[in-house]
Amino acid sequence: MSADLDHLPPLRESLADHGLLAKKSFGQHFLLDLNVTRKIARLSGPFEGRTVIEVGPGPGGLTRALVESDASKVIAVEKDARFLPLLNELAEASGGKLVVVEADALKVDEQTLLTEHAGGAEGHLVSNLPYNVGTPLLLKWLTGPWRPHGMGLMFQKEVADRVAAEPGSDAYGRLAVISQAVCTARVVMDLPARAFTPPPKVASAVVRLDPLPSRPPEAELKALERVTAAAFGQRRKMLRSSLKQLGGAALCEKAGVDADARAEVIPVEGFLRLARATLS
Ligand code: SAM
Repeated sequence: MSADLDHLPPLRESLADHGLLAKKSFGQHFLLDLNVTRKIARLSGPFEGRTVIEVGPGPGGLTRALVESDASKVIAVEKDARFLPLLNELAEASGGKLVVVEADALKVDEQTLLTEHAGGAEGHLVSNLPYNVGTPLLLKWLTGPWRPHGMGLMFQKEVADRVAAEPGSDAYGRLAVISQAVCTARVVMDLPARAFTPPPKVASAVVRLDPLPSRPPEAELKALERVTAAAFGQRRKMLRSSLKQLGGAALCEKAGVDADARAEVIPVEGFLRLARATLS
């Protein structure tokens, strides 16, 4: 069976039919314009027959675009049970392409989801993320045991800029270093607050993250988290002082990094050398 979404009511009508209103505690700001959600799906792909995990489908605007895409399967993980009847209608219309799972994305094991619902295939992640848990979810996907094939994620603009920031900029910090130690990160789309229903207080942006060919081993990533927490915890101080607890100037020398420099000018590779130096 193929996906036939043409007979589905417009998203606004679906929400009204099911009596659904956005809940602030779940970070709910909906995208109801399919032209926008199709663009997000396009900028996050191509998926080339792989599975897409969508976190927080809500009323299903982005989900519809993903079901129409070149993904073979879409697994949508939603925590708010109120949306399940509406999403199950979409799953039915998808001809088996969409699976809806009621779960907390912070706790879910993505590899198990893929094994259970898509035969263990590789998976992409696409999400208009709930703002209150966007950063912990990103860190889970960057440093956890499951490795997404690629990610297209909507964040508050300020967070998106911090993920994709380059050394020397104010936005450059822990999130940029950890993201870019594992992936390339690029802001691919900006969206004003008025694009959402209800509009949030701030603008948003989509970041595309593509994994680098090799990923630092688990222990190195853990060390990178420790080094960047110390270095950016006191970002105006020289590394010899901010990294004192981890070895200070001696650690910097071992890693070939200038101990008199401040964290914000050290490229990702420098932080990786510092992380490795804490382990040897
Ligand atoms: N994708 C929809 C859209 O673009 O219109 C909704 C996006 S809304 C910003 C975030 C969605 O994530 C909501 O549907 C919310 O219920 C859901 N959500 C919030 N916390 C979650 C969690 N921990 N796990 C799974 N879904 C969550």
